[in-house]
Amino acid sequence: MNEKLLNYFNGSWQASDAGEYLAVINPATQAVLAQVPLSTATEVDTAVQAAAAAFVTWRQVPAGSRIQYLFKLKELLEENFEDISRTITLECGKTIGESRGEMRRAIENVEVACGIPLMMQGDVSEDIAAGIDELMIRQPLGVTAIIAPFNFPGMITFWFLPYAIACGNTVIVKPSEKVPLTMQKVFKLLEQIELPAGVVNMVHGSKEAVNAILEHPTIKAVSFVGSTAVARYVYSRGTANGKRVQAQGGAKNPIIVLPDADMEMTTRITADSAFGCAGQRCLAASYVITVGEARHEFNAAMAEVALERVTGFGLDEAVQMGPVINQASRARIEGLIQAGVDEGASLLVDGRNPNIVGYEKGNFVRPTILQDVNPAGNIAQTEIFGPVLSLMHVNDIDEAIQIVNQGQYGNMACLFTSSGSAARKFRYAAQAGNIGINIGVAAPMAYFPFSGWKDSFFGTLHGQGRHAVEFFTQTKVVVERWPSIWSRQF
Ligand code: NAD
Repeated sequence: MNEKLLNYFNGSWQASDAGEYLAVINPATQAVLAQVPLSTATEVDTAVQAAAAAFVTWRQVPAGSRIQYLFKLKELLEENFEDISRTITLECGKTIGESRGEMRRAIENVEVACGIPLMMQGDVSEDIAAGIDELMIRQPLGVTAIIAPFNFPGMITFWFLPYAIACGNTVIVKPSEKVPLTMQKVFKLLEQIELPAGVVNMVHGSKEAVNAILEHPTIKAVSFVGSTAVARYVYSRGTANGKRVQAQGGAKNPIIVLPDADMEMTTRITADSAFGCAGQRCLAASYVITVGEARHEFNAAMAEVALERVTGFGLDEAVQMGPVINQASRARIEGLIQAGVDEGASLLVDGRNPNIVGYEKGNFVRPTILQDVNPAGNIAQTEIFGPVLSLMHVNDIDEAIQIVNQGQYGNMACLFTSSGSAARKFRYAAQAGNIGINIGVAAPMAYFPFSGWKDSFFGTLHGQGRHAVEFFTQTKVVVERWPSIWSRQF
């Protein structure tokens, strides 16, 4: 297909005047799905002008009326759930079950944002001094921007967008250029709910569009999700330009397995975490530290589940793992597996160069397990972002927590155990923002913040829930005295 995707400004679809287009490719088949424009700074400016004009009246719409649009959006997302999920699988590669899971979480964020009339309420204190009252109100910021990564084409924009508009802001979305079709479908639904023109806008593109967002003086806030290098850049350039920025970055997530863990459950859940979404999840388990006696049973069981995992085209319901996003990613992952071996690890399961019958051209890497990985080596620190699990071993939980806390990232850390006191110690000490106890993907529900720490997050307020409401509003404090009629005592 050579359909050229359109941008969406000011309530209508616009052909891009970009000089360059990229092919959007199905990673399982290499079929070209569409052409995405790499929009220019001028196009970003057009979107910003539309969003700025819309803000003037949108902020005056009562919160209770603003959320009526979200109720309609929720209904349309439910009606189009299967179609959007299939689009995610086609352009991103994950299994259809994983795509449905992603859209479910997207919808949950719309539902939570419907509580904005309560969540953005302010505070009042009467008589802070005789006859003087003080109140704090929350007001929207103005034009905001969302920059998304490839691995959740549907969900991640929804960590921000429903809250931003429900709070009275207007929005520009810049989807990942690798997976722009899902947002194209979502914007078709946003068009149907008939928001005032300019409240939501979409600009396709990559670097140039991002830089234009970071430089544009009218944009007040930027929500970014992607790799740590780009997150750090977006945060520093955006804040240097006076913007409020929340930038979620990469990860290297550990799981600690204690000898008293339920091994059957632990291996099943760890495999889902490490190999689900082909390891392209910012909450994917990336390495496991077995403690004491846990090692032999766990390693043997993991090898078995890794070998059994059905890998193929994600629209086939029986498939448990799809391809990685592109050929460059596959080459990078296979190179990192080799780098691990060169560093002294051994391959318990080698998933390189698989033969996936019927999909020989796909970007497949089967589940791979490296064992005896050196905790201080490069491979133990590098985000592989593919279906590769590293195994390490220590003698006690303190040593394991020390390894976890030496890491550069802090997106998620998990512990498998049947001991409450071990769980409590871990929860208390682990330096990560999302903690799992006998959970392999500790993804916060929409009403909790998505809490990365360290190099997994730059900023203060995270996406989702109350954090999103705080991020998309600014507080105003009013101190009031109305003297004339208050001479009498009540
Ligand atoms: P990426 O950083 O390559 O791209 C993210 C966005 O930034 C895209 O919209 C892209 O167009 C833009 N971009 C890329 N390079 C840029 C540059 N040099 N200058 C300006 N903009 C640029 O990330 P990705 O490969 O799409 O996504 C995978 C990464 O995202 C992984 O590192 C993963 O851990 C991370 N991620 C983090 C979370 C989280 O919540 N912490 C969630 C999902 C993904």
